[in-house]
Amino acid sequence: MKFNIITIFPEIFSSYFNEGVLKKAIDKKIIKIKTHNLRNFTNDKRKTVDDTVYGGGAGMLLKIEPLYKAIKKIAQKKKTSGQKIILLSAKGKEWNQQMAQKYSKLKSLTLICGRYEGVDERIKNFIDEEISIGDYVLTGGEIGAMAIIDSVSRLLPKVLGNKESIKDESHQKKDILEYPQYTKPAVFKVSKKEYKVPKELISGNHQLIEKWKLDNKSKK
Ligand code: SAM
Repeated sequence: MKFNIITIFPEIFSSYFNEGVLKKAIDKKIIKIKTHNLRNFTNDKRKTVDDTVYGGGAGMLLKIEPLYKAIKKIAQKKKTSGQKIILLSAKGKEWNQQMAQKYSKLKSLTLICGRYEGVDERIKNFIDEEISIGDYVLTGGEIGAMAIIDSVSRLLPKVLGNKESIKDESHQKKDILEYPQYTKPAVFKVSKKEYKVPKELISGNHQLIEKWKLDNKSKK
């Protein structure tokens, strides 16, 4: 799956995608992540990407022309199935695991990261969806783009070492949360107090363990 990111800060992404599971997925060519600097789609000497807001108001907005040019160059066949162009926005539809599952079936996803006060509203004519990663305001769309790429990529075949890890995970089924998990030691002592792993989990009885896991899943 290919991810294109349109941003004015492409350097932000290199450290995150150069570690762990996602780096392995890139090395194995399961995913490809390309950043596109919005400034490269400007015409003027100063590479201007923003301007003041019509009607007044604080701050600046990302201009429509460079964004349009970038979208046109990167996602030319917008109407082709298997592609989506999304705008990161605090006003968008809230991202969740069910959307991550749906998006993991795509061939390519283009993510547009807003900055400053946001993006000229006319962008809506050239995107498929506006997505928020929660009801709060960030300074830019880059963290949202990373969250979306991460949550989609780990659902792709062969990205996680053990595909079983996904099966019981939180949110894999709507509003169902994973059961509690423990590792060694079975008894953790602090002063005179003992914190024990539930006895079912160390019983060695497979049926009992499965029942405990089922009983201890919780609802959001
Ligand atoms: N003026 C905008 C508003 O009130 O909705 C907020 C703009 S915010 C400072 C700048 C950019 O950060 C946005 O264009 C968007 O790309 C990104 N952003 C901020 N909060 C976000 C969120 N919760 N989810 C996704 N992107 C967000």
